[in-house]
Amino acid sequence: MIPFINQLPKHEEIIWLAALNQRLPNEHVVAFSEIKPVEKKQVKLAIVANPKPELLAEFENLTWVHSVWAGVEHLMKSLTDSPIEVVRLIDPMLSSAMSEAVLAWSLYLHRDMPRYAKQQKDKHWLQHALIPASERRIGILGLGELGQACAKQLKINGFKVMGWSRTAKNITNVSCYSGESGLVEMAAKSDILVCLLPLTPATKWIVNKDLLAKLPQGSAIINFARGGIINTDDLLDALSSGHINHAVLDVFEHEPLNADSALWQHPDITILPHISAPTNLNSACDIVAQNIISFRETGQVPKAVSKVNGY
Ligand code: NAP
Repeated sequence: MIPFINQLPKHEEIIWLAALNQRLPNEHVVAFSEIKPVEKKQVKLAIVANPKPELLAEFENLTWVHSVWAGVEHLMKSLTDSPIEVVRLIDPMLSSAMSEAVLAWSLYLHRDMPRYAKQQKDKHWLQHALIPASERRIGILGLGELGQACAKQLKINGFKVMGWSRTAKNITNVSCYSGESGLVEMAAKSDILVCLLPLTPATKWIVNKDLLAKLPQGSAIINFARGGIINTDDLLDALSSGHINHAVLDVFEHEPLNADSALWQHPDITILPHISAPTNLNSACDIVAQNIISFRETGQVPKAVSKVNGY
């Protein structure tokens, strides 16, 4: 018996359970509410979607959980001192959705769409010089599953691509940076800065007034990772001063974004409701099922998230 512990609306939970059970005919994946207290002791593995930590704690023999989401910062926070291993979703469909989103919104910024939208409101006919993609420098914070896929997509579309990661990387046609000095060096050359870092104690508010000041005058930011990566007050200051031209934000420290947030009405911010790369139910279930089948065959827990690094 494998519990599916989640905070999804009931109708979505039913769809997930059906899709998981269809792919795992030798297992019985059930809703948390259906597990009797005596059965909880036997549970060693759970499938999770942003589970409440107190529900996980009811399974005293749980050894690992498979998340159906890619971002697992809440889980990592609640399980730091626990022996329970966390396996997160790594899905090519997700990487492909994210690279499409990063390309779409990079083109939006690259082709000055916010500026022309403002001009249209004022019935203002004014042409600006076109900068070729080959001269547009895009810096990506995070060169993991998503960051590397996005770098590749941007490169295919002719942009000058850079990336920054914790450990040094060597990626064809991408200028790679690491470490604090690498961050500053890359920021200083980024006309568009794309955030694809996991949220950890080391990345919380990493985009702050100091880093924003390092970006070129008139640069833009895309945050498709987690709201906590950017210090919003610092971003608002940088937008007001004109140092940063525009920000595309898909993620926020509190979601949904409060109706009274100043971000909604800001003329230089594009707000998206966390849609850049939604989990695809079918491919996610295929991957989770495959990982569980291979665990049953080999006894090996799939590669887990590092408790030391928090991602
Ligand atoms: P990942 O494969 O774990 O990659 C993380 C990257 O960030 C790696 O390159 C890592 O460096 C780098 N990194 C981590 N901590 C760092 C630090 N302190 N300094 C410098 N670099 C650091 O993660 P991913 O799958 O690409 O996903 C990234 C994030 O995207 C997720 O954590 C999630 O929050 C977010 N996400 C958002 C959506 C959405 O719809 N908006 C959807 C899915 C995921 P190394 O390579 O050296 O380890």
